[in-house]
Amino acid sequence: VTATPQPPVTELDDIFISVKTTKNYHDTRLALIIKTWFQLARDQTWFFTDTDDHHYQEKTKGHLINTKCSQGHFRKALCCKMSAELDVFLESGKKWFCHFDDDNYVNVPRLVKLLDEYSPSVDWYLGKPSISSPLEIHLDSKNTTTNKKITFWFATGGAGFCLSRALTLKMLPIAGGGKFISIGDKIRFPDDVTMGFIIEHLLKVPLTVVDNFHSHLEPMEFIRQDTFHDQVSFSYAHMKNQWNVIKVDGFDLKTDPKRFYSLHCQLFPYFSFCPPR
Ligand code: UDP
Ligand code: MN
Repeated sequence: VTATPQPPVTELDDIFISVKTTKNYHDTRLALIIKTWFQLARDQTWFFTDTDDHHYQEKTKGHLINTKCSQGHFRKALCCKMSAELDVFLESGKKWFCHFDDDNYVNVPRLVKLLDEYSPSVDWYLGKPSISSPLEIHLDSKNTTTNKKITFWFATGGAGFCLSRALTLKMLPIAGGGKFISIGDKIRFPDDVTMGFIIEHLLKVPLTVVDNFHSHLEPMEFIRQDTFHDQVSFSYAHMKNQWNVIKVDGFDLKTDPKRFYSLHCQLFPYFSFCPPR
């Protein structure tokens, strides 16, 4: 009996998980990640920040990367970090590049299961848009008086997205080695939009929508607790004195305002800090 050849199985170690952060968020956001989902992917997760920090360098076992990008929530700084994330991934030799923000909770086993459904040697851009129609932008062209109108989809950075190695290899000549920043400068849009521009517009690889990614641009309270195990990412935000957080049983709101400790205990009830049950 000859066994039918099976596609290679994706394991956690095939994935490069990058998290964008900044000096001001080390204590308020990074610490929470380190105590929860990072513990399930310590060797695969890297934090891209803008300062040296010995305390968190130790807590992450050397996985904090000072990009030397400037601090601040402006396009150039954010594109600089995304460019660094992409370049370090390309060097890593891993099969999948997954980007997240530091206000994301990543459901690690679900992420592995998701990527196992796709081949890293095929071009894949997996993520979730936050707008209901493709983005329309106007490119100024040098030799004509008319502006060129183009449309494309992009995956919201704050929900997380993944790129196959095959796709990143196609990106390498145009966006590798820091060139990602120049493209961002040219179109003058944020890093996640720049990513969509490169992949959908320049390389003509379409975004594959994966609904299991979630940014805080969605109302978190509508994600049902009985589907948590099936979601790839979650987020939280505090705006206008209101929290946009998931509705989950667990610790009280004072102990766990962002709900990530409670979520972690729902998903992994035997974790050290979870109540006995
Ligand atoms: N960020 C950054 N530098 C800053 C502010 C934010 O690198 O000065 C990062 C932050 O760590 C996060 C992402 O950008 O990963 C989005 O930031 P935030 O959640 O504060 O804003 P949002 O864009 O979601 O409103
Ligand atoms: Mn955010």
